Amino acid sequence: MNNILNQRSVFAKSPFSYMLSFVSAIDFKIIKKMKEPKALGRAGVLKTAHGKIQTPAFVAVGTKATIKSLTPEQVKDLGVEVILANTYHLHLQPGEDRIACAGGLNKIMGWNGPTMTDSGGFQVFSLGAAFGKNITKITKNHAEEILLEDFTETTRKNRGPIVENFKPAKVKEDGVYFRSHIDGSAHYFSPEKSIEIQNKIGADIIFAFDECTSPNESIHYQRESLDRTHRWAKKSLKYHRAQPISKKQAIFGIVQGGRHEELRKKSAEVISKMDFDGFGIGGSFQKVDMSNAVRWVNEILPEEKPRHLLGIGEPEDLFMAVENGCDLFDCVAPTRIARTGQVYTSSGKINLNNSAFQEDLSPIEKTCGCYTCKKYTRAYLAHLFRADEILAATLASIHNLYFIVNLVKKMRRAILNNTFSKLKKEFLKKYN
Ligand SMILES: [Zn+2]
Repeated sequence: MNNILNQRSVFAKSPFSYMLSFVSAIDFKIIKKMKEPKALGRAGVLKTAHGKIQTPAFVAVGTKATIKSLTPEQVKDLGVEVILANTYHLHLQPGEDRIACAGGLNKIMGWNGPTMTDSGGFQVFSLGAAFGKNITKITKNHAEEILLEDFTETTRKNRGPIVENFKPAKVKEDGVYFRSHIDGSAHYFSPEKSIEIQNKIGADIIFAFDECTSPNESIHYQRESLDRTHRWAKKSLKYHRAQPISKKQAIFGIVQGGRHEELRKKSAEVISKMDFDGFGIGGSFQKVDMSNAVRWVNEILPEEKPRHLLGIGEPEDLFMAVENGCDLFDCVAPTRIARTGQVYTSSGKINLNNSAFQEDLSPIEKTCGCYTCKKYTRAYLAHLFRADEILAATLASIHNLYFIVNLVKKMRRAILNNTFSKLKKEFLKKYN
């Protein structure tokens, strides 16, 4: 850890370095760049206070400080190196003070590897502009699902009326006023408040507070929102650097700007001039816009700092993101769809609820190295899903998370071996 703490900032060579420099809590080294023309992809190593991440890497999402239905030991065994938890959810339940009293995120959840928290900006967006509309990270599902996905049938029934009578979040210059989706209580997030909560939760990497806009908003609103997000980034950074924890906790700034080239480039320029330890690329994307937005941004962001594409994780999107220079990606999809019986295979997704699998004695995928595929059949999983047994979620989540995490590991090896284009072509041809 001392090595990490001894890393010097980009200002270290300045004669005023004693005034301007900060000690970065992480160390990122690029070990190989993709050779393909125009490709921005790279393989690297990101050192944090809780260990190394081999990048590009898929970040498993543990919204409420748990990867749903899996123990941290299982998560580690299937190759996950880093977990991202959710500031909004943990603030509401159990609360950041309880997590801090328990010794922080790693301690409370029994995970000894690297961790991240998002800023809560995206969940506030889900409660505001996107609430009740057909908008998420990829604009096709219902926004409420983001918040309600983990409700059991009982809580869904008990809490239904609160959600039905929900008042959308209000975005103001100083922050966002919103109501809890659990009990309707009033809350307020400012940039300083978001960072204070994330400081207490204590992950290795945190994010600046931002406003995620809907792709359906006018360009006028997007401009206004983007300038506000930049002011919030500055406030988030200033607040964080004043805290002693910033010596071991890194902060990433978030680039927004929707689908607009002018706004994305402006955002990348403004945010990259601030002394963040790394960067997030945020937004709610229409699929066709995603690769452009990522490319515009990564051509501007400083090459030597890590980049995280927020909330993206379908195989085809991961290839695009890696090729266009992203190092980290998080997404709830592998575990969320697993709980509904959908599992990845190299020839596309299959649904284990389909009656065809009830007598299929083969594993989900013969060539898969995961625990589920080594031991269990599609027929057994199909039975567990039909019988509504909780083991179904566990076994399907193990497979899906292994599939995605190892797909990104294969991409990393392919960058190192100069075979990325071959891997991408062969994988997508079979997968689609
Ligand atoms: Zn498997």
